[in-house]
Amino acid sequence: MSVSSSALVEISKLNKYFGDNHVLRDIDFSVASGEVVCVIGPSGSGKSTLLRCVNLLERPQSGHVRVAGEDLTDLDCDIDAARRQIGMVFQQFNLFPHHSALDNCALALTTVLKHKRAEAEAIARANLERVGLADKLDAYPARLSGGQQQRVAIARALSMDPQLMLFDEPTSALDPELVGEVLSVMRRLADEGMTMIVVTHEIAFAREVADRVVFMDAGAIVEQGRPDQLLEAPREQRTRDFLERVL
Ligand code: ADP
Ligand code: MG
Repeated sequence: MSVSSSALVEISKLNKYFGDNHVLRDIDFSVASGEVVCVIGPSGSGKSTLLRCVNLLERPQSGHVRVAGEDLTDLDCDIDAARRQIGMVFQQFNLFPHHSALDNCALALTTVLKHKRAEAEAIARANLERVGLADKLDAYPARLSGGQQQRVAIARALSMDPQLMLFDEPTSALDPELVGEVLSVMRRLADEGMTMIVVTHEIAFAREVADRVVFMDAGAIVEQGRPDQLLEAPREQRTRDFLERVL
């Protein structure tokens, strides 16, 4: 897919090293506004690093990362401001254990965005309702299931009203019976038009929800395409080998 001016995310010639380890190799990658892209590939192929470069949690050695037209790799870029546009959900939910679900969602709204407390709570409540947790506003993370905790993490990210949501294996730490509730929240978000990049092993989710599936191996995008094309009729042997192992 070519990079167009309507792309929300435009990554070009991205290279990332950890020491001598060349983890991302000349990656070109773009995501259109409203697009849902699932990234699949073997462990260690660079999926998390690529995702973390999108919000500059990792700084690449070369290349450009543009989000909504702004170059995050530009040293003059206000990276904190840029990151507020980008929600991220991790495999480990990373909730604040000593705060309720509501406070987990409201905290950054008061401290970072300087909303009034009542306003922040209203936004937090609306987003917890959006992920089906209207009855858990006062619950502390330890009292919630993994699936509920991950939904709080999603609500927390949504509370910042991001333009883009990044998910790094959001269901990998969950017991199998809790995966569905998180995926259905993500599916609804996709249906609402959210731009999403999702690193996942959930091939069925990718097939149903993604507009495009990207297969990475050894720090490179090996191939990408519509889910039916990539998953049912991959062009590259490496993609076929991977899919044979996971399907
Ligand atoms: P994936 O998410 O596809 O499993 P990662 O992006 O986590 O892959 O890792 C890609 C490569 O980068 C691996 O070789 C991994 O060991 C290495 N790596 C990832 N994060 C770090 C880090 N913080 N420091 C050093 N090496 C890292
Ligand atoms: Mg990873």
